[in-house]
Amino acid sequence: MNVQATDFTKLKGNLQGEILVPGDTAYDTARVIWNAMIDKRPAAIVRCAATADVIEAVNFARNHKLVLAVRGGGHNIAGSALCDDGIVIDLSSMKAAAIQPDKQRATVEGGATLADFDAAAQAHGLATPLGINSTTGVAGLTLGGGFGWLSRKYGMTVDNLESTEVVTASGEVLQADTAQHPDLFWALRGGGGNFGVVTRFEFRLHPVGPDVLSGLMVYPIAEARRILQQYRQFADAAPEELSVWALLRNAPPLPFLPENVHGKPILGLALFYAGNAKAGEPLIEPMRKFGTLLGEHVGIQPYVAWQRAFDPLLAPGARNYWKSHNLSKLEDGLFDVAIQYAQTLPSPQCEIFFGAIGGATMRPAPDSAAYAHRDARFIMNVHARWESRADDARCINWARDFFKASSPFATGGVYVNFLTADEGERIHSAYGPNYERLAQVKRRYDPDNLFHMNQNVAPA
Ligand code: FAD
Repeated sequence: MNVQATDFTKLKGNLQGEILVPGDTAYDTARVIWNAMIDKRPAAIVRCAATADVIEAVNFARNHKLVLAVRGGGHNIAGSALCDDGIVIDLSSMKAAAIQPDKQRATVEGGATLADFDAAAQAHGLATPLGINSTTGVAGLTLGGGFGWLSRKYGMTVDNLESTEVVTASGEVLQADTAQHPDLFWALRGGGGNFGVVTRFEFRLHPVGPDVLSGLMVYPIAEARRILQQYRQFADAAPEELSVWALLRNAPPLPFLPENVHGKPILGLALFYAGNAKAGEPLIEPMRKFGTLLGEHVGIQPYVAWQRAFDPLLAPGARNYWKSHNLSKLEDGLFDVAIQYAQTLPSPQCEIFFGAIGGATMRPAPDSAAYAHRDARFIMNVHARWESRADDARCINWARDFFKASSPFATGGVYVNFLTADEGERIHSAYGPNYERLAQVKRRYDPDNLFHMNQNVAPA
């Protein structure tokens, strides 16, 4: 490493934000991210307060030939928000979200979480498609594509991105949109963190809620096959306002479930209606007859409450190993494998889910933005999640075995934001047919691959 403590002191003098180095009181908490499997020790963490700080930090890393990582919300499962020895640009202090209700636009800084974004936009009854866990970073989610409850109706998060402010590897600040640096803007919409530090995103917004019909219905695992078959038919015919995701896991001790199912494998169907709540009610009625309903918690609630509903199941601090498949259809054989593995969960927090996208996410051409997977109707995840290091091998092997057993039913594509650190061989599947074009854009904006702590695209 070509850097001395005095260099960091000099850098500190140029920052509005702060810099944390090993030994500083806040250093150890600043290097904690969502996945507790990740334990990295950067030489310095630069808590940027403004775009000017980001420029300083990028120039510093480049000039001192330091490894550089960029942290948005710190959720990435692969732990790419951090690095060992190098420098971390930590955007967690840059969270401002400004809404222009008349134009239905939101401008958010690169460290905002979904909670920051949704709170600001919902004050005006507006939202854009984001993920299902409110502590996730807007930046990392958007740069990989982004999907959630609003995606069937309004598309991927990147389909709603209007413009960006980016600090490139050379330390320049560029505005990228369809008119200015359109190649860079194209690459940012699904190409991950490969092209620079995005300090500001501008999104289109849509009227949503603020109260929405949403909730969870829970059924016995013994009936899962028949219920999933009905779910498949139902999801195919559902209007784009309605999103229903299927979840196989052990029942949490939720008050609306009988105590004798707590901790036992169940099938859950989580539903969300992106329209007038009253109009949604008759549409979900058939779900109550899919099988024996063990319990349900469905009603009209604030959109921001629904956006936080899964936070307790996905809280930070656990050890996590995830695998993911894109699916264009749901086959009986896949249901059989999922049900089998859901009954051999290696820890109580493990789960398998089928996230329904399709609808508006499938309309753009695969090369309209770097996010290429316009054939995916579902994204299936296996979440191995546990507490103790002693369980690492058992839980990871369970996820890998399920992933392998379910592979014959998948498209072969994968959502880049769900790749773990050991899946380098799947990077081409994540960027798909857009890889070569991404490599060209990379050569133009980051020829020396300064931004490589990500699912990396090598410069052409
Ligand atoms: P970080 O770990 O901070 O960043 C990830 C990477 O993104 C960084 O390594 C960097 O390369 C890049 N990056 C981050 N910020 C910037 C920036 N400002 N400029 C340039 N590059 C940057 N995804 C969905 O689409 N939908 C979901 O519903 C969903 N749910 C999730 C739930 C949980 C509990 C978790 C852990 C993940 C979920 N994801 C979901 C995946 C999520 O999109 C990715 O983990 C994403 O990388 C998180 O972004 P972040 O900013 O929090 O992550």
